[in-house]
Amino acid sequence: MQIAKEISVTTRTAPAAAQATVYGYPRQGQGRELKKAVEGYWKGRVDATALRSVAAGLRAANGRRLAEAGIDEVPTGDFSLYDHVLDTTVMVGAIPERHREAVAADPLAGYFAMARGTQEVAPLEMTKWFDTNYHYLVPELGPGTVFSAHSARQVAELREALALGLTARPVLVGPVTYLLLAKPAPGVAAGFDPLTLLDRILPVYAEVLADLRAAGAEWVQLDEPALVQDRTPAELNAAARAYRDLGALTDRPKLLVASYFDRLGDALPVLAKAPVEGLALDFTGPAAANLDDLAAVGGLPGKRLVAGVVDGRNVWVADLEKALATLGTLLGLAGRVDVAASCSLLHVPLDASAEKDVDPQILRWLSFARQKTAEVVTLAKGLSAGAAAVAGELSANRAALASRAHSPLTRNPDVRARAAAVTPADARRSEAYAERAAAQRARLRLPLLPTTTIGSFPQTAELRGARADLRAGRIDADGYEERIRAEIEEVVAYQEEAGLDVLVHGEPERNDMVQYFAERLDGYLATRHGWVQSYGTRYVRPPILAGDISRPAPMTVRWTSYAQSLTDRPVKGMLTGPVTMLAWSFVRDDQPLADTARQVALALRDEVTDLEAVGTSVIQVDEPALRETLPLRAADRPGYLAWATEAFRLSTCGVRPDTQIHTHMCYAEFGDIVQAIDDLDADVISLEAARSHMQVARELAAHDYPREAGPGVWDIHSPRVPSPEEAAALLRAGLRAIPAERLWVNPDCGLKTRGWPETRASLDHLVAAARTVRAELSPS
Ligand code: GLN
Ligand code: ZN
Repeated sequence: MQIAKEISVTTRTAPAAAQATVYGYPRQGQGRELKKAVEGYWKGRVDATALRSVAAGLRAANGRRLAEAGIDEVPTGDFSLYDHVLDTTVMVGAIPERHREAVAADPLAGYFAMARGTQEVAPLEMTKWFDTNYHYLVPELGPGTVFSAHSARQVAELREALALGLTARPVLVGPVTYLLLAKPAPGVAAGFDPLTLLDRILPVYAEVLADLRAAGAEWVQLDEPALVQDRTPAELNAAARAYRDLGALTDRPKLLVASYFDRLGDALPVLAKAPVEGLALDFTGPAAANLDDLAAVGGLPGKRLVAGVVDGRNVWVADLEKALATLGTLLGLAGRVDVAASCSLLHVPLDASAEKDVDPQILRWLSFARQKTAEVVTLAKGLSAGAAAVAGELSANRAALASRAHSPLTRNPDVRARAAAVTPADARRSEAYAERAAAQRARLRLPLLPTTTIGSFPQTAELRGARADLRAGRIDADGYEERIRAEIEEVVAYQEEAGLDVLVHGEPERNDMVQYFAERLDGYLATRHGWVQSYGTRYVRPPILAGDISRPAPMTVRWTSYAQSLTDRPVKGMLTGPVTMLAWSFVRDDQPLADTARQVALALRDEVTDLEAVGTSVIQVDEPALRETLPLRAADRPGYLAWATEAFRLSTCGVRPDTQIHTHMCYAEFGDIVQAIDDLDADVISLEAARSHMQVARELAAHDYPREAGPGVWDIHSPRVPSPEEAAALLRAGLRAIPAERLWVNPDCGLKTRGWPETRASLDHLVAAARTVRAELSPS
């Protein structure tokens, strides 16, 4: 075989054994011990010493487990009580002014105050770590920021690992990425560029590196994932300067600069030339382009290359032979090649073998952190000793891949035939917007500035209790159904009484807007223990999009039509859109995302059709994730937006002209996807806008957005109740951008996290505001 040949050729020229390593491991522990200890500390049930000892125990267990699995060099410093970017903020002494006193008084309590805020002080802002579902705390910097080195935690965690007899490599967020992730501190001009602080932060990194070396680090890894995004020449220059300066230090460990999530592109020649001893690159998915790019710059002669050939973000077994072939090619391009997962294993669940409910035939396709670690070890061994040395592993892997490729779960001929038969007309409404709008106006007879909500009403303890009762067998399906119906009755009655125009059923039956549908679609798998950190102590269990997707039965029709039976006003059907279904799941890696999206879209299309058939006149398909899955590189965005918007239209365009399609997204910054929003061709879109004072309304207007829109007038992220005057003022601001005939009145997002008292008060005010402004429009 070709692989065997490549390996036998190259092993002669590279006698050093390839090492196996990873950049980070899930933090929470098998029994979610970390979450329990941290939350216990917050509640005062666990003291600081006990929390620290749980954390140290988890770190030791992870380190030992990795070493026992055959990992030659384990990471340290990847562990965190809350977030590793916040840890970096502590390491460089960039504690925001408002938190300094608390941190000085009690570093641990102060640390959590930065993460979560207190009655008196706001936390740091939280945002997504690149295009993952992990959220980090955003550093706040300004021209006055003074950095100082605090290496104690990093040093202590390295010493811990060394004391266990492990070979360890501290992992730090690199200085360039740290600055690029930061934002101007409150009170600092928005135009402030944190990268201007580079010369001030480098001495701090120099000090930390020296401390780590003194503590016994041979290598230190500096993570620079921000360099896989499009970067300006000035930013690339900053990266060049950073690593020239750090490389020139005399008292330092060897440096491994790591990137992941995509190809390095223009940053690759910069880092390849830098005076550092090693680079870690991602070779999975779109980042596989790093291979050709590396050859084009002449490789990394004399340097260490850590090759991320096992995808650290998906849940599937790797194609080991293919990975080995890539590694074989890389051997010719660097002084030494080691093997790793493409990124920290933080983004995958801990252990697939814990999933006792998953069919064993399918279980062998799955690879979580523990299994990925084993794959890395196998590949390192195969690279060093030749494919024959891992023949058993390779043949088991081949069999697992073959079983997946030929399984009826992954290949459903009916689903495939239907997806292949889709025509452009299927993804287009039968009438242009103007005709649809007239037909909808005639059918719905709504007042000017119609009022509505985004879908969910408070998910009360009683509702969660009903689901727990059902799971535990304390009530049966009928008993559960009865409780849900009772809730729908209450929600509908309240909305009528409040005077809302387009009602909802309130989504009481939904545990989660993606999971609910995943559980009802064939082709999706659920896990029992597949927890992944979303932020802090919040963990989610994303469903796994494992096979071809179909809908065995209607999923929501029963609830929507029950709600509709209780009122004469229109009740909106409520679905989660195809892009969001993909974004908040683990997706399959054996076909293009576009194909998976199309299958999900067709299943949703059936649901839309069924809702329409029972008389639903308004149907909302939520796509809150449309923007967050935008590819990191601008060049990849048009392709993504093309399939994403097509999938949305495919799910919504099978309806009659007088059925009104709504969509919803919850974020304020959407300037870069406004064309895509237009391309959804939804009749009405609701968006988050309250905090930004209707900025999105102005952006839509600037784009000449032709259809109806509901920029939110109530910020539902806090329990604060907006006054009728405040909501009216926002509405008037909306009217300056969007004409009254096309403006809706609604909150920013769903109400599931709110309590009933503030929900009632706020919606009453929202309706009052709509009435006031309507009266101003037609003084008669
Ligand atoms: N319809 C959903 C709800 O109201 C939308 C949630 C969301 O935008 N994330 O909860
Ligand atoms: Zn929302």
